[in-house]
Amino acid sequence: MSERAKLKFPIEAGKILLHCCCAPCSGDVVERLCENGADFAIYFYNPNVHPREEYEKRKAAIVSYAQKMNVPFVDADYDPDRWFERVKGREAEPERGKRCDICFSMRLERSALYAHENGYPVLASSFGISRWKNIDQVNACGRKAAAAYADVMFWDYNWRKQGGSERMIQIAEREKFYRQTYCGCAYSLRDTGTRNNQESR
Ligand code: SF4
Repeated sequence: MSERAKLKFPIEAGKILLHCCCAPCSGDVVERLCENGADFAIYFYNPNVHPREEYEKRKAAIVSYAQKMNVPFVDADYDPDRWFERVKGREAEPERGKRCDICFSMRLERSALYAHENGYPVLASSFGISRWKNIDQVNACGRKAAAAYADVMFWDYNWRKQGGSERMIQIAEREKFYRQTYCGCAYSLRDTGTRNNQESR
């Protein structure tokens, strides 16, 4: 556990639904929420991840961390056909482009629906902690997704702050998380291969 300033929750005592994309991005976010006594659950909805074997590896890592941290884990569908349908025509977009808007939105829309139907007034996401992601893009998608429900708000806290970026890497090493080398979709796999950039992320 780390010693950092107390988190100020947007709604005191309100349950938080944390959308998690993978264990490395979620390690410090989950740890901070636990340290601060948050009442929260992890929501795993990532139909973008390709191929299925990769999806299972990423899911297994976060399931095992959730168990260790004693955090409830909600396993949503793996419906990649719907994902491919939604991003159709955007296959050539670069990372952080329009395809990523659709991808973040799809995952956060489903999360916001779950939050609405299950009594979570606050939706948050681990997406923005990664330096590979555009925080403004993630937050815009999160706010839009939550705006569909009067009883759900998106918490756009910057998880990189207070050493979050460094802790994220330390926790991934400490926990020996499976660490992927591409964002997740078939197109990011293609582009990572093209760049020959195999740095863990
Ligand atoms: S690059 Fe990442 S965020 Fe963008 S569409 Fe692919 S999986 Fe989604």
